[in-house]
Amino acid sequence: MSKTYNPYDNVLKVVSEAAGILGYSDSDIEALKYPERELKVAIPVRMDDGSTKVFEGYRIQHSTSRGPAKGGIRFHPDVNPDEVRALAAWMTFKCAVVNIPYGGGKGGVVCDPGKLSEDEIRAITRRFTAAIAPLIGPEQDIPAPDVGTNAAVMGWMMDTYSMLKGHCVHGVVTGKPIELGGALGRSEATGRGVMFTVKNVLKKKGIPAQGTIVAIQGMGNVGSVTAKLLYQGGLKVVAVSDVSGGLYKKEGLCIPQILEYLSKDRKNLLSGYQEEGITRISNAELLELDVKLLIPAALENQINLSNAKKIKADIIIEAANGPTASEADDILKKKNIMVVPDILSNAGGVVVSYFEWVQNIQSVNWTEETVNEKLKDIMDSAFDAVWNIAESNNATLRTGAYLIAVKRVVDAKKARAIWP
Ligand code: GLU
Repeated sequence: MSKTYNPYDNVLKVVSEAAGILGYSDSDIEALKYPERELKVAIPVRMDDGSTKVFEGYRIQHSTSRGPAKGGIRFHPDVNPDEVRALAAWMTFKCAVVNIPYGGGKGGVVCDPGKLSEDEIRAITRRFTAAIAPLIGPEQDIPAPDVGTNAAVMGWMMDTYSMLKGHCVHGVVTGKPIELGGALGRSEATGRGVMFTVKNVLKKKGIPAQGTIVAIQGMGNVGSVTAKLLYQGGLKVVAVSDVSGGLYKKEGLCIPQILEYLSKDRKNLLSGYQEEGITRISNAELLELDVKLLIPAALENQINLSNAKKIKADIIIEAANGPTASEADDILKKKNIMVVPDILSNAGGVVVSYFEWVQNIQSVNWTEETVNEKLKDIMDSAFDAVWNIAESNNATLRTGAYLIAVKRVVDAKKARAIWP
């Protein structure tokens, strides 16, 4: 990641642009530029070898104007305050664009889960949860999984918080194991939402799904579920990648076989996968493939000034948060490449997190069919709203999404007015 790249500046740029079109004054959006609350914590952990290591962690609440802060916890070596700030702000606008009653927050710990044992990950999780406990809670701020964390981590967070409170608190985190009140369908929700977005954009463009050529960067939770559902939907996934590099096969990769290999062992990487007829490519090469749909499902700043001119895809569906730097956005626009923005296309995860929280609060259980149907309704109507507002303003889909989201957040702020 380049030193000068600051993802939070990216967010502010697009927010200001949308506010300008909406006719808001500088005062109307001034408070949105500053995260409401930031906490940095030190996390001492006794490692398996007996040594003590101190990890750095963050929880940042960008906005609570529309409801409690909501957003994931990232375990990754590149976690830093500007990244967490940007991720928190994206959550504010993501929750607003799909109109669920939350603000935005995000957290992270600087660590590499691939190099830690399960005991060490659990120890980090517990101490981190205790350190941010004053900020979180079902009515204040509700964490969830993100890059490098999963349902097991959420289960430990829920247990730690509950132990500190002295009673069981299901609604403090979402994306939990099902037996702890996790929602059916939550683990696949982000990828399922990406699939609905793909279907919606293909429908608008009059492109049949069958045989549509796709490349997916990232085989974490989001990338792998997206690959599975698109493969099942008849699209031809010709390339996938992870940290170890990518695979390409012109005739289409055998996604079920790849997913089976990856799920056998959490240490398995694509570099160790074998299939007849595959070519090994780099992540950079994957992004520049001549495909109909490019789906970045890894980290921020993957499409930037250094490669934007070389992108050949017709449509980019942002499954990761912030995969396109704003300078690259301008180039893609000139090249007529359509970008479906992250805050819309990857919102399925937080939408089903909302369903989980609603079920926890009411102590009820919905079926997986109910969850998936309700998710589809929200994703489809948010997509239509963004498409229509972008079209009527002759703007990109990203600007369209922010026109809706910024209006909802600013109007909520105005209705509350400034306290005291
Ligand atoms: N980490 C996911 C995201 O970036 C989900 C957040 C949540 O469910 O709260 O949208």
